[in-house]
Amino acid sequence: MRVIVIGAGVLGASAAFHAALAGAQVVLVDQAHDGRATAAGAGIVCPWLSGSTDAEWYRIASAGARYLPTLVQQLAGFGEHDLGYRRVGALSVASNGRDLDGIEALARARQAGAPDAGDVSRLDSRQARALFPPLHPELEAVHVSGGARVDGRRLAAALCRAMERQGGTRRQGVATLLVRSGCVTGACVGGEAIEADAVILAAGAWAPALLAPLGLTLAVEPQRGQITHLRLEGVETGSWPVVLPPGSHYLIAFEGGRVVAGATRERGTGFDCRVTAAGQAEVLNQALAVAPGLGQATLIETRVGFRPLGPNARPLLGAAAGLKGLVIGNGMGPSGLTIGPFAGRLLAQAALGQPPNLPLEPYDPFRPRTGVSASDTDAIR
Ligand SMILES: Cc1cc2nc3c(=O)[nH]c(=O)nc-3n(C[C@H](O)[C@H](O)[C@H](O)COP(=O)(O)OP(=O)(O)OC[C@H]3O[C@@H](n4cnc5c(N)ncnc54)[C@H](O)[C@@H]3O)c2cc1C
Repeated sequence: MRVIVIGAGVLGASAAFHAALAGAQVVLVDQAHDGRATAAGAGIVCPWLSGSTDAEWYRIASAGARYLPTLVQQLAGFGEHDLGYRRVGALSVASNGRDLDGIEALARARQAGAPDAGDVSRLDSRQARALFPPLHPELEAVHVSGGARVDGRRLAAALCRAMERQGGTRRQGVATLLVRSGCVTGACVGGEAIEADAVILAAGAWAPALLAPLGLTLAVEPQRGQITHLRLEGVETGSWPVVLPPGSHYLIAFEGGRVVAGATRERGTGFDCRVTAAGQAEVLNQALAVAPGLGQATLIETRVGFRPLGPNARPLLGAAAGLKGLVIGNGMGPSGLTIGPFAGRLLAQAALGQPPNLPLEPYDPFRPRTGVSASDTDAIR
């Protein structure tokens, strides 16, 4: 069976890897847009502290967090070890201990059904700073030991290479859908028609443009995120936990002194991928308010990515009813590095006609709008 995957972000790369693993002949096409979300994503994996009220979002996000260690092991079998994945723990921080009571209660309630969340504990400001030294001295924390981080760029690249090692091929270029008699029969890449039994469309915020000519409206828009990478010279930061203050900003550390401060959430920017003065100021002000000890860090770069934002936090996954041969994956918004590796496997299963590990009905890409509000997405990091 031949499967074409359009888009090599974390979702498409995972779908391509899993389809190849299941024995399909895979062609993965990517246009490498500036602003592709996976290349900018921070990499927090900690759904248990999220304030989202959507049970279906939580179901797939927690399944995603649970699946990552399995995928990491699988990729190791293909010689891929450099993913930036590590269970470093997460600190939800606040200056008022009472604000942490609700967060602790939520984490403990979720921990009961998610052993991979690890231990939940309360830390005073001294204990919190012992884990993340630049932190403001007045901040206390709830610590969740299972919190993790992953580098989206390295993970997607590793998935692509592992797919190729199984005989899959990669093409760089612009893909469009080939449609014949109401069925998607392949893709056109750089003027060449490639036939396939199924096409997985994982084109992120750019996907609506591929579906519009078919009369299909996918409710996805780009949400711009500006995110700044700092380096603490000579400091080893690889084991530092993720820091989640109130609001939507955060800090996340990688090896080699790299501390990442994220991120803006901007709608209505279209695909304008400039770093703006206001965006840069917002990210740095928020970061330094939480961690003044970062003041002397070197500013390395600011990345810009477009989160594929659906009508609410719940992803859009599954077949397009009435259009055979097409499977859509999208709408992972701010949690795609958590959900995408697992969701890619679901898309591969759907394309190959295998029963999915999670029922896809709640994630129907063209479902009517649910009662879950769009602002629910703001509660997710
Ligand atoms: C600043 C920021 C911080 C984030 N932080 C986190 C986080 O901490 N934790 C978390 O879980 N998630 C996070 N996310 C969210 C996560 O990064 C995204 O949800 C996820 O990367 C989306 O992946 P994707 O594969 O759907 O889209 P993308 O990564 O955007 O990939 C889509 C790909 O499709 C390609 N494409 C589009 N059209 C075509 C075409 N016609 N032909 C060929 N190729 C095409 C593009 O070039 C692109 O490479 C963050 C995102 C941003 C921007």
